[in-house]
Amino acid sequence: MNDLQHDMGDTIIQTDVMIIGAGPTGLALACQCVRYGLDFVVIEKRAGVTAASKALGVHARTLEIYEQLGLAQPAVEQGEIARKARMLKSGEVRAELNLSNLGTGLTAYPYVLFFEQSKNEQLLYDYLKQNGKTVRWQTELVSFAQTDAKVTAQVKTVDGLSQTITANYLIGCDGPRSLVRQTLGLGFGGSTFERLFYVADAQIDWTLPHDALQVCLTKDSLLVFFPLKGENRYRIVGTFPEAFSKDEGDVLYAEIEQRIQQEADFELHVHDVEWFSTYKVHSRHVSQFSQGRCFLAGDAAHVHTPVGAQGMNTGIQDGYNLAWKLALVLNGKADKTLLQSYNDERLENAKHLLQTTDRAFDVAAGSNWLFTFLRTAVLPLVFPSLIKLNPVKQFLFSLISQIGIQYRHSLLSQHAGDASFNVKAGDRMPYFLVAGQSIYDKLRQPKFHLLMFSKTPSDFDALKTELENWDTKWLDFNNILLEPQVAVVFGMNQAFSVLLRPDNYVALMSTETSLRPIKTYFEQLTL
Ligand SMILES: Cc1cc2nc3c(=O)[nH]c(=O)nc-3n(C[C@H](O)[C@H](O)[C@H](O)COP(=O)(O)OP(=O)(O)OC[C@H]3O[C@@H](n4cnc5c(N)ncnc54)[C@H](O)[C@@H]3O)c2cc1C
Repeated sequence: MNDLQHDMGDTIIQTDVMIIGAGPTGLALACQCVRYGLDFVVIEKRAGVTAASKALGVHARTLEIYEQLGLAQPAVEQGEIARKARMLKSGEVRAELNLSNLGTGLTAYPYVLFFEQSKNEQLLYDYLKQNGKTVRWQTELVSFAQTDAKVTAQVKTVDGLSQTITANYLIGCDGPRSLVRQTLGLGFGGSTFERLFYVADAQIDWTLPHDALQVCLTKDSLLVFFPLKGENRYRIVGTFPEAFSKDEGDVLYAEIEQRIQQEADFELHVHDVEWFSTYKVHSRHVSQFSQGRCFLAGDAAHVHTPVGAQGMNTGIQDGYNLAWKLALVLNGKADKTLLQSYNDERLENAKHLLQTTDRAFDVAAGSNWLFTFLRTAVLPLVFPSLIKLNPVKQFLFSLISQIGIQYRHSLLSQHAGDASFNVKAGDRMPYFLVAGQSIYDKLRQPKFHLLMFSKTPSDFDALKTELENWDTKWLDFNNILLEPQVAVVFGMNQAFSVLLRPDNYVALMSTETSLRPIKTYFEQLTL
């Protein structure tokens, strides 16, 4: 990054990547830029990371991303693993589910972690600082324009100074009211739910143990208590009935507490409220994730109901998908058309996400007779047995934890050699152990990974000799013993290779023991 003094006194900053917004999306993208050694600036109008706890659920895929930054362990240590869910009717336990082992065998993080957004942001910001980077706090994007060659933005600092920033690329991580999205004139179609949500972090005295997510089975609304780290601390999330006419911001905490007491319908004492908020839920996504040299990520590109705790996690993965593509293009290793795949892959994901969260929201809080019946009568009876079945458990975990996201339809997924495999190009690299260690331990470097699985190490000797002349800045390779459990995962019992993209999605698979398919793949990237 270069700060130059302009003739008129304004500062001109030149950089490769300009990130607008330091919420979880902007901070996580900045961390990825650090991994790839990119030059970037982050602009944020707030004075520091958020103090509000906001998002709570951190999923396995996010923890896999954090692992590469060395942040998974601190997050798990500081958070609370969701171990159980209890369904309550007037304080009486109607059903209890074990959540702690839902994803066993699918990831190193087979659970949902409760770890507040404020703490996620702090963790990511600390990573930036440890790597000599920072955020330009109290600096607001005012306007920007792009040409074929660059993006130029005007920003204003807290003391009224205006600065000009020029960059190769601008990424709008500026939240649901995104100025970047509005300036680009991109649509944000969808709907707004009429119901008003409330959320509060507080201590609760009751007879229930602090070991589970407590779900109240109510007739026409939602009321859930999530355990937070600390004695008797909980996140309370609920909805007001449809007839409740007040707007966000007009609701007093006393009204929320009254609502909690009424809906819970058993004795509890809420006290030491640290934070509360009310909000309307929207379900919208942007018409396209990019235009020219400008991109959108996180809530700027998609907003949805809180069911499944997907928002922050999805924003972090938008950035994860985009960063390696920017890195390749900026380093001249790929043609700029690679960046189009960001829109293709993440727009499809956003559309799918909105469909699933809308449906889940209807079941969780819908007020018509069918959803009420499903929620209060069918679910507590059926769900505890259903979730013990492996296929159900794995389907639900893959969906919620985001490890099931795949890009099979992407142009970056080369299917020529994958017909006889269980795993397909575009899938997330499956998790398994090799010699007792997670395969992901070999996949932490920010580059492509070529994994050669064979029973006889010499199978790939010719290929390894060829690879020795390759630029290892962008590709590493590992010869891995084809153990029986690995053969089962891939559905392949003979020597094969897997090329992984830097975000650990399968680019291609092949039983060829030559470099030909890999060479062709890279040639297509640099078209
Ligand atoms: C109560 C609640 C519970 C939630 N629970 C979950 C959950 O459990 N799991 C989950 O994954 N998600 C959850 N979410 C959603 C989650 O909070 C959002 O998806 C997440 O904050 C999106 O992050 P972001 O960085 O994209 O946007 P934001 O967090 O909105 O950050 C955008 C940033 O851009 C800055 N900005 C905006 N305009 C400008 C400008 N012009 N110049 C400079 N800076 C600007 C803003 O100040 C802000 O800091 C929850 C949300 C709420 C409200």
